[in-house]
Amino acid sequence: MNAVKKHYSGWSVLQEGLRGQTGWTKAWHDRDPAPRYDVVIIGGGGHGLATAYYLARTHGITRAAVIEKGWIGGGNTGRNTTIIRSNYFYPESAALYDLSVSLYEGLSRELNYNIMFSQRGMIEVAHSEAELEMMCRAANSMRINGVDIEIIDRAEVLRLAPLLAADLNVRWPVLGGQIQRRAGVARHDAVAWGYARAADSLGVHIIQNCEVNGFEIDRGRVTAIETSRGRIAADRFGMAVAGHSSVLAGLAGFALPLQSYTLQAMVSEPVKPCLDVVVASSSHGAYVSQSDKGELVMGGNLDRCPSYAQRGNFPVTQSVVASLIEMFPPFASLKLMRQWGGIVDTSPDNSPILGPSPVEGLYLNCGWGTGGFKAIPAGGTLFAHILATGQHHPISAPFDLERFDTGATIDEGHAGVAH
Ligand SMILES: Cc1cc2nc3c(=O)[nH]c(=O)nc-3n(C[C@H](O)[C@H](O)[C@H](O)COP(=O)(O)OP(=O)(O)OC[C@H]3O[C@@H](n4cnc5c(N)ncnc54)[C@H](O)[C@@H]3O)c2cc1C
Repeated sequence: MNAVKKHYSGWSVLQEGLRGQTGWTKAWHDRDPAPRYDVVIIGGGGHGLATAYYLARTHGITRAAVIEKGWIGGGNTGRNTTIIRSNYFYPESAALYDLSVSLYEGLSRELNYNIMFSQRGMIEVAHSEAELEMMCRAANSMRINGVDIEIIDRAEVLRLAPLLAADLNVRWPVLGGQIQRRAGVARHDAVAWGYARAADSLGVHIIQNCEVNGFEIDRGRVTAIETSRGRIAADRFGMAVAGHSSVLAGLAGFALPLQSYTLQAMVSEPVKPCLDVVVASSSHGAYVSQSDKGELVMGGNLDRCPSYAQRGNFPVTQSVVASLIEMFPPFASLKLMRQWGGIVDTSPDNSPILGPSPVEGLYLNCGWGTGGFKAIPAGGTLFAHILATGQHHPISAPFDLERFDTGATIDEGHAGVAH
């Protein structure tokens, strides 16, 4: 902590301002690619960077590189609405996402970098008796899996989020809800930057502006990648490129059961604190939280038209905003400031794919769809284990690509909110 105080004291900020911002120490080095590494990770989002960090820290593999075609965190990691929770339905998912929430709880300390994890709780509102009944059944299953989920009544929901419409005679009345109190939000860029800085300090190369555009495959095994900055060889390659997973798989000669869609989000103008819990509705899919800047951060369901367009569109914005205004009538007077989109990779069972690919030496971390930010610390831990050992960790094993052949899918698609 002393180092942090020294770097970021008010005095040093003032000094830097006076000398034209020229003296800051870079948080990570700007590297040129080396010809060979032990492990190369393609994709400098949260999953790629966390994997690199745990490879170095837990497994001592420091001759590793993260290859990013743009800037780190410039994909979905820097575009998401940062909901972190573990209230998934199946035991396999509960194990994975609960590991992630636990790791998030210690992450600022672990990385010595403030990721601003705020465990303010997340409420999923029930709008009918039938929905509340289904929520109780799901919550019972989740509690058996060890997830800290609670059912709360209408009065408690309205107490926690007093700007919700209390009238029962509206389109989305509040009948009750479920809450995970350990859930919350974090600062997305800080998660990417914190992992990048920590991985770099352990010797990992972070290489930006370097696009992978081909694989060299020798007798079924990948030996090198072709990039916009030359050929890079390695013993093992990990792929964590989210919405571009099918593109990369195509370059390596196989297909993945993934579809890429645009998921979008938007923020209002900043206002004084008015909402200190995340609120979501699985009936219409919209959700909202308030950022530390005061903006209301809003999102909704996928635009179900397969696309690589990394931008939002008006019909989705309109439906999200309309639903949230009906839930929170005072929001109607706010201006919308920005909207944007990210390309997400959804699998048939809405669960991620972790483990070997059909090409030897190439491993997969993909299929996180609309909800992989919360999984970054666990995804990184498990993927590092797979890349270091060539074997599954017990928690990642059920998420192997093979499940689409065996039928042992983990169908989280039906089970509540998606983010
Ligand atoms: C609007 C929106 C809201 C979301 N909200 C939430 C939420 O509230 N909670 C939650 O848990 N999740 C949420 N998500 C999902 C979450 O953002 C993603 O699942 C997660 O960030 C995926 O991380 P990643 O590291 O796998 O991918 P990314 O962060 O997308 O990183 C992949 C990287 O790979 C790079 N890449 C691609 N192709 C190549 C190539 N050929 N060569 C080199 N690099 C390449 C990309 O440039 C990119 O930087 C949301 C997503 C969006 C878009």
